[in-house]
Amino acid sequence: MVADSEHVLVTGGAGFVGSHLCERLLRHGHRVTCMDSFATSSPDGIAELRRHNGFTMLEHDVTRPLPDLGDTRLVLHLASAASPRDYLRLPIETLEAGALGTRNALAFAQRHGARFLLTSTSEVYGDPLEHPQREDYWGNVNPVGPRSVYDEAKRYAEALTMAHQRQHGTDVAIARIFNTYGPRMRADDGRMIPNFITQALAGEPLTIAGSGDQTRSVCYVDDTVSGLLALARSTLTGPVNIGNPHELPVWQVADEIRALTGTASTVRQVPGAVDDPRRRCPDISMAQKELGWRPEVTLREGLRRTIAWFAAESGAAA
Ligand code: NAD
Ligand code: UDP
Repeated sequence: MVADSEHVLVTGGAGFVGSHLCERLLRHGHRVTCMDSFATSSPDGIAELRRHNGFTMLEHDVTRPLPDLGDTRLVLHLASAASPRDYLRLPIETLEAGALGTRNALAFAQRHGARFLLTSTSEVYGDPLEHPQREDYWGNVNPVGPRSVYDEAKRYAEALTMAHQRQHGTDVAIARIFNTYGPRMRADDGRMIPNFITQALAGEPLTIAGSGDQTRSVCYVDDTVSGLLALARSTLTGPVNIGNPHELPVWQVADEIRALTGTASTVRQVPGAVDDPRRRCPDISMAQKELGWRPEVTLREGLRRTIAWFAAESGAAA
């Protein structure tokens, strides 16, 4: 069990999920080292956190060996490109973050006697043939398609994490995060929700990729962070799904955002992505039973908060 006030290393802590995680850890009284290369983020995202006494920013690429950081009880390993636009732009870097980065972060945890948590992804299920996805489903991934740089990096990272536990007895956990959204996503990261909100606020058509019938189950970032911390503080290895089982077709997410912003924007169909998963929905019974966790923020409330943040950032009226 990881107690408050202990030192936590968050790799990828300057990114979208990482910055929220660092903020919550600081609020709980932890000392936090954020290790990030700013490969897919910028120092702006953690400007507020830097004012906090318990927060240390270490600019470092996890694919290079990690320095010693003194007593550390927990390593939360997030460093990796995560949005399709980013990992398609950084294919080899993404594979290396999953492989070398995970190896280095695991070695660090082992040396420091720390618990290690890998943020894996629903993408390990690929274009799933079972629905909803339970943790014991092995997935349907194209190993040579463009998305494979992310999917296979995370599958390798999971395998390495389990091997470390078996070979060295390292205390490990694996979270398979499903699509998460909220304030501090980059407006240009190419993911569905930032795209739709930015387009709606600008009065431009919302770009629906393919038919729009493909589904996603989106989870508000505060809920994802609570799930990750519940897993970190438990003794569970997992893998465990962390996501919101409220499943919607993409066109309906676009409609919700159009209604909530009150925009006059229409929708425009654009070509679908290669190997785009057709359905995605987590079975979260393991997280509910083992961690007592389930998401609490409704889609409408989460979208409202996210739209307000993007509107404030862009100077537009929400
Ligand atoms: P993000 O791109 O906002 O953050 C990732 C962070 O990792 C960035 O700050 C980036 O600069 C850093 N990084 C990348 N490569 C690095 C390297 N080699 N060394 C050091 N830092 C590096 O993405 P996010 O949405 O916050 O995702 C965080 C983690 O959660 C990722 O591991 C991702 O795979 C996982 N995840 C996220 C989602 C989601 O919907 N957001 C879903 C599933 C899994
Ligand atoms: N998508 C879309 N319009 C966009 C961006 C994405 O219709 O402007 C679709 C994308 O093809 C996928 C879904 O929305 O079917 C979710 O995409 P995202 O990049 O957010 O996450 P993914 O689950 O693909 O990693």
